[in-house]
Amino acid sequence: EKEIIGREAVAAKRKQYFYPCTQHFYRNSPQLVRGSMQHVYDENGKKYTDFFAGVSVVACGHCNPAITERTIHQLQQLQHTTTIYLTQPNVDLAERLEKVLPGELRRTFFVNSGSEANEGAMLLARLHTGRKGFIALESGLHGRTNLTMSVTGLSMWRTDKYLDEDVTFIRRPYDPELTPAQAAERSLEDLKKVLEEKGDTIAAMIAEPIQGNGGMILPELSYFRSVKTLLDQYGVLLIADEIQTGFGRTGAMFAMEHFGVVPDIITMAKALGNGVPVAAFATNDDIARSLNTPSASTFGGNPVSAATALAVLDYIEAERLPERAERLGAKLREGLLDLQRSYPGTIADVRGAGLMLGAELRAGGAAENAALTDEVLEEMKDRGYLIGKNGVGRNVLAFQPPLVITEEDIGGLLQALAGTLARILAGAAPSADV
Ligand code: PMP
Repeated sequence: EKEIIGREAVAAKRKQYFYPCTQHFYRNSPQLVRGSMQHVYDENGKKYTDFFAGVSVVACGHCNPAITERTIHQLQQLQHTTTIYLTQPNVDLAERLEKVLPGELRRTFFVNSGSEANEGAMLLARLHTGRKGFIALESGLHGRTNLTMSVTGLSMWRTDKYLDEDVTFIRRPYDPELTPAQAAERSLEDLKKVLEEKGDTIAAMIAEPIQGNGGMILPELSYFRSVKTLLDQYGVLLIADEIQTGFGRTGAMFAMEHFGVVPDIITMAKALGNGVPVAAFATNDDIARSLNTPSASTFGGNPVSAATALAVLDYIEAERLPERAERLGAKLREGLLDLQRSYPGTIADVRGAGLMLGAELRAGGAAENAALTDEVLEEMKDRGYLIGKNGVGRNVLAFQPPLVITEEDIGGLLQALAGTLARILAGAAPSADV
């Protein structure tokens, strides 16, 4: 086995060989060397309970043997071919997805990442409608290829100066100053206006059912039904980006189920492979026929990724992870709301669904809010809990753990968070024993 080099050496190599833009969350980032279900361990054997799951990826737990055994078995049987040959794992996976996908969505195209799935879905929408434009939501995130970045509404992720200009953003169905119903109504008014103006030039609207990086934005439950009705009037497709929300996290297999809406295309990635790259976009028979260009992905649907995703779906079903996410999510939400009652000026909002929850922090202006969030993240890490952050102002604590966490883990997290907030707000130095 390769010797583990210390975290300083890893940080130095990263600085020397990666692009300088590489993101950091922590002042002192741990080097993670091992994972087991809801836990990861650093080079010194310190255990962390993971409430971030690599941004919703490791939903079934780190190195879950029920999954990795099947990955390893497939690696030893047949690792790679191209789609010109017949192989069983990818057709089994497509058949399996058809059973969990809503409505008539029964055709699946396999790719490797979320960006690629959205890019494929958007190409499909253009081919199907013969139109070029897109509608997207402010503060949405859809990827880092040119087209997916073009529909991304978070400025920090819009780094290309030459983005596609045929994208119209509408306001998101959330505003701290408005009720959810008012915010949804305002977003729908924006949508109506765009459709009236140029609906016949628009291929699709792309949206996350619950925005992840945008700050855990759960719209009013009638919102997407109204969106779909409007889009249908203009022959504009709805692409649901379920890359972060899919596969049980929000308490349903796909988050669009909460809204009672069947989108025209669903994109998925992240949790589908539980850490192995696999992504896909799915649609109905009619729309699928429009992808008439020769389209093949070298790695899309490879046997190893497909066998892994099959094991993931088996595990989600056997362990009833969507129900678990709903039940444990309610506990976590209750605890966060309790904390909000203790610190009403600091925790401005608690929101999300299932085990995709956010707590927005406030400390003053934008810079103070972001600084407080970073401080909480750092101390929680030192106390043995990995959480995330997101939101337009980077001031929303993100809780999106593996769905296999327990009530005890949630209790521990809440206690650590209470201790962290108490310590920071009292302005005391961190105690040595955290
Ligand atoms: N859509 C959503 C909702 C995402 O959260 C992400 C990644 N954070 C992407 C798309 C892009 O996925 P990937 O990084 O796999 O390309």
